[in-house]
Amino acid sequence: MEGWPFKGKTAHKLDDIILIMILMLNKLNKLLETIWFPISFRIIALIAFIGLVIIGFTSPTDDPFFINQLAKTNLTTSFVWRLWWPLIVLSAIFIGRIWCMICPVELVTAFFARIGFKRKRPGWILSGWVITLFYMIVLVVGITILQIDLNPKYTSLYLLFILGISIISGLIFEKNTFCRYICPVGYMLGIFSKLAPLGWRVKKESVCIKCPDKSCINDKYIYQLNYKSCGVDLIPAEINNNNHCLLCGGCMKTCSTYKTSNNTSRPNPAIVKIGFAGDLMMLQPLRLPEWFFLFLLTGSMIFEMNHFQVISDLGASFISNNIINISGINTDLVKDLAHVLYLYLVIPLILWALPYFLLVIFMKVKISLSTYLQKVSLIFLPVIAAFFVGLVIMEITTKFPFYKYIIQDITGVETIKSILFRQIEMPQLPYWTEWVFILIMISALIAGIFLSFKLIGRLAYNFDIRKGRRLFYILPVIFILIILTGALGYGFLI
Ligand code: SF4
Ligand code: SF4
Repeated sequence: MEGWPFKGKTAHKLDDIILIMILMLNKLNKLLETIWFPISFRIIALIAFIGLVIIGFTSPTDDPFFINQLAKTNLTTSFVWRLWWPLIVLSAIFIGRIWCMICPVELVTAFFARIGFKRKRPGWILSGWVITLFYMIVLVVGITILQIDLNPKYTSLYLLFILGISIISGLIFEKNTFCRYICPVGYMLGIFSKLAPLGWRVKKESVCIKCPDKSCINDKYIYQLNYKSCGVDLIPAEINNNNHCLLCGGCMKTCSTYKTSNNTSRPNPAIVKIGFAGDLMMLQPLRLPEWFFLFLLTGSMIFEMNHFQVISDLGASFISNNIINISGINTDLVKDLAHVLYLYLVIPLILWALPYFLLVIFMKVKISLSTYLQKVSLIFLPVIAAFFVGLVIMEITTKFPFYKYIIQDITGVETIKSILFRQIEMPQLPYWTEWVFILIMISALIAGIFLSFKLIGRLAYNFDIRKGRRLFYILPVIFILIILTGALGYGFLI
C-alpha cells in the first residue's frame, strides 16, 4: 500500500503542480527578503479590516428578516464569511498558513507586545486549551446563538472582539502570545496546513547549529515589528511541521541582517517543498486540544453541509416536519440547545467514537483511547479537508452573482430593497452548478480517501496490525457516511 495512491501519472501531475507552486514561492521568498514585505500588506490589511468594521456598524440591521437577506449583500458579512474565511481554509490546505503572513492582527498584537508588560505566560495559556475553548465559545455563542455570520453589526463586533483580545494579550504577555496560543483561526490553519506541500524550513540545519549569534531566536529582536526574531516560540532550524509558523519571514530577515561576508552559505529559512501532506505522513501526534478542536470543527462542517441544496432537498423530501416542530416546543432556546447538542456533541461523539470501537472490538487492536485520538484520528484529517474543499468552493462561487451589486452598494440595503420589491431577481447560479460542486466534493473525497489509505498503511505498520487490517481501510468511508447521515439528520431535527 505504501506510496500506492500517487504512483504513475498522478504522481507526475502532482509533481508538476508542486513545481509551479515552488516557482511562485521562490518569488515569494525573494519578496520576504525585502524590507517592505509582508509589513506593507499587513498595513493594507489593517486598513481593510477597519473599513469592514465601519461598514458593518453603519448597516441598518434591526429587522430580523432583513438581516438574513443582508448577509449576502453586505460587504462586511459577504467578505468576512463568504470570501475571506473559505479562501484561507482552502489556502491552508494547499499552501499552508499563508494568511498569517499578511494578517493585520499579528501586526497589532506585536505592536502592543512591544509596549506592554511582557509577563511570562501561565501554564493554562501554554496548554493549548484556551484556543479550543475560545473556538467553542465562538461556535456556540457567536455562530449558533447570535448568528454573527449573518449580521453585519455582530460581524463588526466580532472583529473588534478578536482585535481587543489580541491587544490585551499583547499588552500583558511576552512575545506573540495571541498568534501562538489564542487565535483559533491560526490554530485551524495550522491543522489544515499539515496537508500543504510546502513549509517553512531551513536548508542546512548544521549551519544554524553552529551559528554564533542565533539572531533568528535572539530575545533582543523579538519586539521588532519587521526585522524580528521568532515571536511564536519556534526555533527555525528545528521546525519540522507547519503547525505554528506564521510565515512572517522575520527569522529570514534577521538572519540575513546579521550575516557576515564570509558566511554566505548560511541557510536562510524559507518556504520549501515538503511534499503533499508531508507533515501528515510523519504521523506526528495531535495534541488533545487539537483533537478536540477537530471534534468541534466536524460539527460545524456538518452544519455547513446543509447549504448544499441537494442535501436540504433530500432531507425535506423524506421529512415533512422536523422533531422540534412536532414536539411543539419550538422556542428559540430549545432550537439553539438542540442545534448545539446535535452538532457539537452527539454527532461528533458518534463520528469519533464509532471507529475506535470498531478498532478495539472487531479488529482487537490493543490501543489506548489517547493513542487513538492523537495518532489514529489523523487518518480522518484528509477526509475532513476534502469536505471543506467542496464546501468552501461552493461557498465562494455561489456568492459570485452578488458581487456586482456589493460593489455598487456596500451596505447591501438598496440591493435587498430592490430584490424585495422585485426590481431585480435574487442573484443565483443555475441549478446545474450544484451538481458541479457535488462532483468537486466527490473528487476531493476520493483523493482524501486515498490519502487516508496511505496513512492507514503507515499506521498499520507502526502498530503491527495484521488481523482485520482490511477493516482499518473501511474507517474513512464509515467516517464519511456518518458525516452525510449527520447532515441529513440535522434537517430532521431542526
Ligand atoms: S495566528 Fe491568527 S492573528 Fe496570528 S497571524 Fe495567524 S490568523 Fe493572524
Ligand atoms: S519561524 Fe520564522 S517565519 Fe516562522 S513565525 Fe517564526 S520568525 Fe516567522
